[in-house]
Amino acid sequence: DEDAGIRWDKAACRFCGTGCSVLLGVKDDRVVASQGDPDAPVNKGLNCIKGYFLPKILYGEDRLTKPLLRKKNGKFAKDGKFEEVSWDEAFDVMADQWKKSLKKKGPTSVGMFGSGQWTLWDGYAASKFIKGGLRSNNLDPNARHCMASAVGAFIRGFGIDEPMGCYDDLEQGDVFVLWGSNMAEMHPILWSRITDTRLTKPGCEVHVLSTYRHRCFDLADNGMVFKPQTDLAILNYIANYIIQNKAYNKAFIDKHVQFNKTPTDIGYGLRASDPREKKAKNRMKGKLTKISFEDYAKSVEPYTLEKASKMSGVPKKQLERLAKVYADPKKKVTSLWTMGFNQHTRGVWVNGLCYNVHLLMGKISEPGNSPFSLTGQPSACGTAREVGTFSHRLPADLVVKKKAHRDIAEKIWKLPEGTINPKPGFHAVKMMRMLNDGVMNCYWQMCNNQMQAGANTNNEPYPGYRNPDNFVTVSDPYPTVSAQAADLILPTAMWCEREGAFGNAERRTQFWRQQVHPPQGAHSDMWQILEFSKRFTVDEVWPEDLIAKKPEYKGKTLYEVLYENGQVNQFPKQEVKDERGNVYDNDEMEHFGFYVQKGLFEEYASFGRGHGHDLAPYDMYHKARGLRWPVVNGKETLWRFREGYDPYVAKNNPDGKKGDVYFYGNHKKNGGRANIITAPYEPPAESPDSEYPLWLCTGRVLEHWHSGSMTRRVPELYRAVPDAVVFMNKKDAKKLKLRNGRMAKISSRRGTITCKVETRGRNQPPQGLVFVPWFDAGRLVNKLTLDATDPLSKETDYKKCAVKITKA
Ligand code: SF4
Repeated sequence: DEDAGIRWDKAACRFCGTGCSVLLGVKDDRVVASQGDPDAPVNKGLNCIKGYFLPKILYGEDRLTKPLLRKKNGKFAKDGKFEEVSWDEAFDVMADQWKKSLKKKGPTSVGMFGSGQWTLWDGYAASKFIKGGLRSNNLDPNARHCMASAVGAFIRGFGIDEPMGCYDDLEQGDVFVLWGSNMAEMHPILWSRITDTRLTKPGCEVHVLSTYRHRCFDLADNGMVFKPQTDLAILNYIANYIIQNKAYNKAFIDKHVQFNKTPTDIGYGLRASDPREKKAKNRMKGKLTKISFEDYAKSVEPYTLEKASKMSGVPKKQLERLAKVYADPKKKVTSLWTMGFNQHTRGVWVNGLCYNVHLLMGKISEPGNSPFSLTGQPSACGTAREVGTFSHRLPADLVVKKKAHRDIAEKIWKLPEGTINPKPGFHAVKMMRMLNDGVMNCYWQMCNNQMQAGANTNNEPYPGYRNPDNFVTVSDPYPTVSAQAADLILPTAMWCEREGAFGNAERRTQFWRQQVHPPQGAHSDMWQILEFSKRFTVDEVWPEDLIAKKPEYKGKTLYEVLYENGQVNQFPKQEVKDERGNVYDNDEMEHFGFYVQKGLFEEYASFGRGHGHDLAPYDMYHKARGLRWPVVNGKETLWRFREGYDPYVAKNNPDGKKGDVYFYGNHKKNGGRANIITAPYEPPAESPDSEYPLWLCTGRVLEHWHSGSMTRRVPELYRAVPDAVVFMNKKDAKKLKLRNGRMAKISSRRGTITCKVETRGRNQPPQGLVFVPWFDAGRLVNKLTLDATDPLSKETDYKKCAVKITKA
C-alpha cells in the first residue's frame, strides 16, 4: 500500500489473449507485487497463476543488457563468438549487412518476424519501417502460427475481421461448446466465468470436443474425443441435422446469408516440390462461387450421423445431443475455439463451418449467441490483425494487393504513390524456407522465439538462421534458443518497462504506463526500430523515380520520413499521470523528444476511424480498463452487426429496424450478407502409418507461456512444471513397454527428442495419440512437427503429425 511506499497502477497482463488487467505494485523502481485488478471487467480481480507471478519475469538472472555480436579478430564473423558491443556498433554492422543485401537483391532479401505480443506501436512502427520505408512486405507476426485461420474465415465470411461477440457472452449463453480449446489451461479466467455460469444458471450445458481429454472435460456435460481432422465431418453433420430437421431459420437466411462453394483441391502449403502438392490443381486458392441453398444442402447431405460417428469415433448419442443444442431455437449457444481449429491444414474451412451452423440458425451477433474465436496472445488482435503486421496486410483490414488500399496507406504515411510493394511478402513459414534457401538474407526477429516455436525449423543440415549467407538479429530480454542461433542479439526492455498497449480477443484495447525503468542498456522494440531507421537514407533504399515524386525527401533518413515528419511527432512531451496524480517516467518520450507512442497511435487510429474500426482518443485509454472497438462518440461496441449495439449497422443500412442484423463488411460485395461456404472433410497432410504409428499433438500448459523463456525463469512456475513430458495413454505405454516417469524417445520423419512418459497427468490422450507441450527449451518438440499449413491462411498445423515412441 501507499504507506509502505508502494505505488499501485493498472497494466494489461503480459501473457494470454484473455487480456486480464493486473495491478502492479512498484517500489524503488522495481515491480514488487501484482494482483488481479478488481475494477477490470474481464477478470474482476482474478488472475491465473502466471498473472500472479508476473513481476518475476522481469528479474531473471540472465537478463540481457548489452548487444552481443558474433566476432572474430575484432570483426563481425558468422562463425565468431558473441562479444559485447555498443548499440552504435551493433546497428552499424546490422545496417551494413542490410544495405549490402538490399543493393544486391532488393527489398525482398530482408525481412522481419514480429509478434502478437508486441505493443500496438512496436507493430505499427515495424510495419511503417518495413513496408513503407524499405518497401519489402516481408513482415509477419508469430500470430501467423496462432490465428491466421480465424482471420481468413472472418474475411471470407463477413468481409471484416474479429469476433462479433464479446466476453459478456460467457454469462449470456445457455450452452457453451468448446472446439479444440483447452480453456481451463489456456484461458483460465474465461474458463472460471463459464464455470460460474454453468454452476449457477439452470439448464446451462457445456460441451467439449477435443482429440484428447483435458481439464475442461471435468466440467463437460458432453465430453467428446474425436479423431484428428474429423471436426470437419462433425460440423458438416450438424449443418445436415439442422437442414434435415427443418430447424434452420429461413427468415434469417433469406435476408442475411449467401451460399457459396470454393475449390477443395488446395494442397497443404508444403513446398511446391512436395509430392502432396502435385495433385492439388487449385493449390492455395480460395475463390468463392455463389450456389443455392439446395446446392449447399446437398453438400452436407453425405454427413449423416452414422458417417460422422464412424469417422470421428464419437458415439452417435453424443453427436446427436450436440446437434440438438445448435438446432434448438430457444437455446443460446456460444461456440469457442482456439488452436484446435486454427492450427489446422483446413483451418479457414473449419472456422467457416462453425459460422455456417450459427448462420443457419441465425444464432449470431446477439448476447449469448456467439461463434467466438479466442486468441492465444495478448495482442494477436491488436498488433497482428488491427495494426496489419501480416505480410499481406496494412492497418484496419487493408491489404497490400489492392491499389486503393495502398493509396490510403501512402496518403496517411505521406509517402509517394507507388512506395508500397503490391506483392504480399513471405509469411512465417515461407520466411524460414527462404532463409534456409538463402533467398532472404537479413532477418530481424523480435518478441518471439521462432527457433523453438517454428515447425521443422531447427533441423539439419542447418536452420536458416545459421545459413552462412544470412545475417540474423534477435531482440530479446533473455538468451533464448533463437538468440543463441543469431548473429546479433539486442537486449530488449520488457512489458511494463515502457508504456504499452495490447488488443485482446474481444476487441478490447488496453493501455499501461511505464512502471519502471528497464535495466540499463536494454531498450524497447519500438525504440530499436526507430533508431535503426536512422541508419538508412531514402536515397539508399528508394529508386530515383520514387524520390522524384517527393523531392523534399531527398537525403532524408527513413526515421525523418516515417517518424519525424509532422505526423508521429505532432504531440509534444506531456506529463503522464494517473488518477491519483502520480507522475510516470516515459523513457521513449524523453529519448525522442516528443510523445512518440501517442503520435504513432493517433496516426494508426486514423486508418480505422469512420471505417468500422474506430479507436478512442489516446488519452481515454489511460483512464479506462480497456475499450472494445468500434468506439464511436466514446461508446464501445459489445455485439457487432446488430442494430442497437453497433453504430455501423444503421450507417450502412439506413432502412434497418432496431435489432436488425447487417453484415456491413460485405456491404459492397453482396449487400451485407454473410457467406456460408461449403467445405468437405479432407485428410490431414500426414497421418500415422506402420512406421510412425501415433498422432502427435502439441500445445501449452497453464504454468508456462509459449516457449517458456519468461515463465521458466520464475522459480515457482519452473518448479511447478519443470520439463515437458509426453502425455500418453496407459495402454499404448504398456504395449511399448514404457513406464510412467521413465524416459522415452519420440521420433518423426524430421527429428527426435527425449522426454519423460506421463500416463496419469492432466491430459489423457486416447490410444494412438500423444501430447507434448512446447515450452521446454531442453526438448524442442518442434523438431518433430511438420511445416504443413492451411493453404489459405498459411497457418501451421501443430496438432497433427505422425511419430513413433521407443524406450530412451
Ligand atoms: Fe489472465 Fe491470461 Fe494473464 Fe492468466 S495469463 S492472468 S488468464 S491474461
